[in-house]
Amino acid sequence: MKKFLFCISFIMCCTLAGCGQAKAEPVTRINTAMGTMISQTLYVTDEESADIYSKEIMQLITDLEENLLSWRLATSEVYTINQQDGNPDGIILSAQMTNIISDCLAVSEAGDGALDITIGPVVRLWDIDKWSGQDTSAYVLPTEEQIKEALENTGCKGLSLEGNTLYFPDNMQIDLGAVGKGIALQEILDYLQEAEGQNKPDAAVISVGGSVLTYGEKPDGGAWRVGIVNPANPSENIGFLSLKGQWCISTSGDYERYIEINNKRYHHIIDPKTGYPAESGVRSVTILTKDGLLSDALSTASFVLGVEEGSKLAEAFDAEALFIDNEGAIYMTDGMKQYFTK
Ligand code: AMP
Ligand code: MG
Repeated sequence: MKKFLFCISFIMCCTLAGCGQAKAEPVTRINTAMGTMISQTLYVTDEESADIYSKEIMQLITDLEENLLSWRLATSEVYTINQQDGNPDGIILSAQMTNIISDCLAVSEAGDGALDITIGPVVRLWDIDKWSGQDTSAYVLPTEEQIKEALENTGCKGLSLEGNTLYFPDNMQIDLGAVGKGIALQEILDYLQEAEGQNKPDAAVISVGGSVLTYGEKPDGGAWRVGIVNPANPSENIGFLSLKGQWCISTSGDYERYIEINNKRYHHIIDPKTGYPAESGVRSVTILTKDGLLSDALSTASFVLGVEEGSKLAEAFDAEALFIDNEGAIYMTDGMKQYFTK
């Protein structure tokens, strides 16, 4: 529900601000995929084009989940990889998976393991995927012992990527949940850039859960406005980013998926050092960069690291970061300040 409200307010921002004199008009389509809401505002000359392109984009996201990213579906490459844990000959990866894992390992290494694509067993233990709409009275917190045990099979240091061959130990599992939405943004961007046809969208704003792609120039020459959610009240924005042209913006927040037990909030971003939801003093991190995967990888890692180390990590990848801390205070990297309005 909170995500829905966020999307609606975001869409209203885009739609109201997007009515220039040019021929292309914003048309919005909303669907679900990857367990989240997908909102597409496409600048097209007619409704029919919006239907055609939005359907193709939805298909792209579904294919990505089914063929590449899902840890659940036996059709995906991640699933196949996870079946071969401990294979001494290593596992040959597709070119796309090689790039994904290579980028994730780079962020993991630079961020002292804060992004951990082997954290899956701990995520399963917390049962995060089943939190939304769950009856909390039936929920049992994992024990310290269970967490300790699950952590034994995690840590990106266990992974070794040599060319396109991945080596990883017995009982380790890959989970790309922290970067899936960003990978989807990148795929959509590539698709829009390569699409042919007279009626293809010249400009678009597409959100996949907490990750947003802005593409092209608004026909009226104005800036895209991307809302930053107030973690204390996720149905409203605390401010917005004004952006021109192509950007990827990903937010990781403790309000996105959580469960409350005995008045304590347990959220979905795990500190790989402890196995518990990260307590770095921040409630949300927004990353701004040109690259989809990086925006998503850095938002998760920077959440775990907190303001100081998280800012350094973002800047190491030429990205900008905005943090909202537990008291509602806003911190930004210097480069972010020019885009943010409260
Ligand atoms: P995001 O919303 O992009 O920050 O991604 C959070 C999701 O990534 C969670 O729902 C988990 O599936 C997974 N996850 C949680 N903590 C981590 C972590 N430290 N590193 C990698 N993946 C994580
Ligand atoms: Mg992320």
